[in-house]
Amino acid sequence: MNTYVYEKIDHRPGGNAASIISSLRDIFVGAPEGLREVRQLAAEVAELVSAMGPAQQKACAAVCPECRSVCCINRHAFHEHEDIVYLAALGEKMPSYTMRVPDTDPCQFLGAYGCTVGRHLRPHRCNTYFCSPMLEYLENGPAPQYRRFICGLQLVTKKREEMLEAFYNKAYSF
Ligand code: SF4
Ligand code: SF4
Repeated sequence: MNTYVYEKIDHRPGGNAASIISSLRDIFVGAPEGLREVRQLAAEVAELVSAMGPAQQKACAAVCPECRSVCCINRHAFHEHEDIVYLAALGEKMPSYTMRVPDTDPCQFLGAYGCTVGRHLRPHRCNTYFCSPMLEYLENGPAPQYRRFICGLQLVTKKREEMLEAFYNKAYSF
């Protein structure tokens, strides 16, 4: 029996990220049946995140062009341990990072038209962070739309927690 240990991820050269990414990939490749529930929950998270995309895109198009303090700085480019579990459960590859960009520079994945990483593949923090102007924009929109949005956000968080709980409960028995 292998024991899976949770560690805070360190993406710096010589850090533990490469070995954690590889061991998570092996766990999902080697135990497809045992982790069926985790895979299913991860797929549901991906669907919920993608469904919120159009509303987020619309809000961003209205608010972000005026922004003087862009939130997409490079420090936020890196996936946390939980994000990596989720990507491994989806069978998705990790993005390829460069370590040459300083933390406070624009994110290495920020392109001319916004983030170049698929919405459901971004770090969780990227999909759930809302600055005050963005929140204000959403709150001032049609009430049913705002309620749907908040509800979607709560569902994503709940489903992701379920997925992680299922994984960490099971992972110790592989
Ligand atoms: S989400 Fe907010 S902080 Fe980030 S770029 Fe848009 S307006 Fe700026
Ligand atoms: S949303 Fe994309 S561009 Fe922005 S910090 Fe996250 S990964 Fe980087």
